[in-house]
Formats: sequence, structure tokens, C-alpha cells
Amino acid sequence: MNSRFTEILLDFVYLFFPRYCLGCSDALVKGEETICTTCMLEMAKTEDHLYQENALYKRLSLQMPLARAMALFKFSKNGRVQQVLHQLKYKNHPEIGVMLGRVYGERMIAGGLGQAFDLILPVPLHPARRRRRGYNQSAKFAEGLSEKLGIPFSDSTLARGKKTETQTRKSKLDRLENMRGVFQLNRRENLAGKRILLVDDVVTTGATLEACGQLLFKEGCSELSIACIAET
Ligand SMILES: [Zn+2]
Repeated sequence: MNSRFTEILLDFVYLFFPRYCLGCSDALVKGEETICTTCMLEMAKTEDHLYQENALYKRLSLQMPLARAMALFKFSKNGRVQQVLHQLKYKNHPEIGVMLGRVYGERMIAGGLGQAFDLILPVPLHPARRRRRGYNQSAKFAEGLSEKLGIPFSDSTLARGKKTETQTRKSKLDRLENMRGVFQLNRRENLAGKRILLVDDVVTTGATLEACGQLLFKEGCSELSIACIAET
């Protein structure tokens, strides 16, 4: 279709079917996608991708050997980041994950990380939960990152087996024990020598990432980095 015509058609569509920001519910203006500019500015971003030895890296490095650890946003309770994550996880808005992946991919490239990884793997959801939700929000984030960074992502390499009890009331040791044997490799994929970027939605204790990381190192991955949408 002629692009000028498409533009006029879109203006017409937006006039009668306005799209709303999933962070604040205000109408989106032309050029805005999914989340408005004001919300994007208001959500507290970290500069993790610019500093290798950032606080998240220091914390997670105690659990596993890492090349990089970074999160796009700082999570704040009842804040806009939480609202957006809620829409992504529970309100059937996978497009948020893709959009944030693109945003973070661009920031990574600007920060010199455009060639830093070979493969992106999202932390898998339990199959029953994935069926109910219809998608894995971390895989959507991986999809956006993959698009911008120009490297592949695979949503089927890592698999989640047994169901874990809720993590929040457990001690650190219990949490690790709870995660043992939860993740498997779905198909024999050659991960040897690969620099893997493992991605998740929110990083809290890091126990899930650690369990995945152990598995990836066992499969011969040469370097592990972590990228999340938000850190608590
Ligand atoms: Zn907004």
C-alpha cells in the first residue's frame, strides 16, 4: 500500500479508535507505541548497561560467574514500572515485552554492547502457566532484544519442569534447594562456546537465574550475562 495512503488511513483509524498508553491510560499520540513518552520518561531507568561493576552485577556475581548483569528499570512498588509489568504479565499485553526489549536493545548498542552476545535465552515459564497466559513475557522481551541486537533468541531451548512453591517465604538456602532440577534443556542444542544473554522479567533473589545459569555452564556456555526488565 502507498505509504501516504497508509498514513492517512492510520490517522483515520486512531481518530475513531484511539489507542491508550498501558502505563497511564492516556491516549497515545502519533509515533507513540504501547507506552507513552511521559511514562517512559517517568519510569526510573538504571544505567546498568554502561557500568559493568554495577550493584546488580556485584550482587548476582556472588551467585554465579557473570560477564554482565543489567536491568532496564528500577522496580518500585505501586509505581508505573509495576503497573506496566502487571499489564505485561496478567492483562494479555505481550507487545509491552517486545517494545521494552527493543528499547533496551537500542540502549545496549549505544552503550557498546552490540556485539557482546551470541544467543538470547529467556527464563521459561511453567508449561501450565504459559498455556494459561498464552505467552512467556520474558520471551517477548527476548524477541525485542533479538530484533535490535540482530542475534537469535530461542524460546524452546530451556524448559521448566516441576512446579516450584512460592519463593517469598523461604530462606535463601531453601530457595536454592527449591530450584534444584527445575530447569532442563529441551533439545540438545550446542551451547558450547556461546556467550549467552539470559533474560527475565523481574530479578529479585536471583535464584531462578542462578538455577538456569548452572545448567547453561554445564552445557558449555563460555560466558553468561543477564538482562531483566526490572530489578527490585
Ligand atoms: Zn503513559
